[in-house]
Amino acid sequence: TDSTAAATSAEPDTTPSENPVIEFVDVEKRFGDNVVLKDLNFSVARGERVTLIGPSGSGKTTILRLVMTLEELTGGYIYIDGEALSHEDRDGRRVEVSKKAQKQLRTRIGMVFQQFNLFPNMTVLENITEAPIHVLGRSKKDAVAKAHSLLEQVGLPDKANAHPTSLSGGQQQRVAIARALAMDPEILLLDEVTSALDPEVVDDVLAILRQVAETTNVTMLIVTHEMAFAKDVSHKVMMFDGGHVVEEGHPDKIFSDPDEERTQKFLSAVL
Ligand code: ADP
Repeated sequence: TDSTAAATSAEPDTTPSENPVIEFVDVEKRFGDNVVLKDLNFSVARGERVTLIGPSGSGKTTILRLVMTLEELTGGYIYIDGEALSHEDRDGRRVEVSKKAQKQLRTRIGMVFQQFNLFPNMTVLENITEAPIHVLGRSKKDAVAKAHSLLEQVGLPDKANAHPTSLSGGQQQRVAIARALAMDPEILLLDEVTSALDPEVVDDVLAILRQVAETTNVTMLIVTHEMAFAKDVSHKVMMFDGGHVVEEGHPDKIFSDPDEERTQKFLSAVL
């Protein structure tokens, strides 16, 4: 693979981005005839926090789902830590990474969804410890101790034995964040995590994520309509429209003085 070639070769690394954690190269994603992403190129460095903004339907969620291998790409390449998620064989057919490799890869990526997606038949504690125990092979004792500390961190120390259905949306989302962090992910994908919440709890959830951003080096790819949050936590903002990057840059620049008219229009509609 490219990563081993780079590691063993005496040649200087010729790729422009030094060891990106996430790299999209000429990515295309179609659903039938609907071309959602086309010729998409970008990379995310280790520890970098990148926010994707843009109108509904511009392909932002699809990008996160591709990284999480919840969707298969139809063209181009995605590399996670230099490892290709799929490639073309000699006959030009696409070959996905094996299910086993996908599963292994997903253990290094945490994803938090708009609709929480907790396991409804498990307690809060079981939701958080399930994957660390059964996928990472951690001891139950360690997984439970870590879960309690994460529940403390997200402000729900007394909810370990509750069932998700007895919790409010904001509480469920905090559990979902704890569940993602329990895996010590290298990459955290946040897909409109506050869009389904009552307005009065949005800031509580964002405060937890700000703290994660400030206190860890986890690489984050964020889709959000919370522009103040995006401005505070992001190193880079990418504006999408029609499956393309319209412009990208430092949040101070994108939010206060964007170059492109489409970005200006989008921001004046949402801010
Ligand atoms: P955004 O997150 O920017 O709102 P999405 O990535 O959710 O955009 O969607 C981009 C486009 O892809 C939309 O046109 C949507 O209808 C289409 N799409 C997303 N997921 C699917 C799917 N599973 N099947 C068919 N079309 C899909």
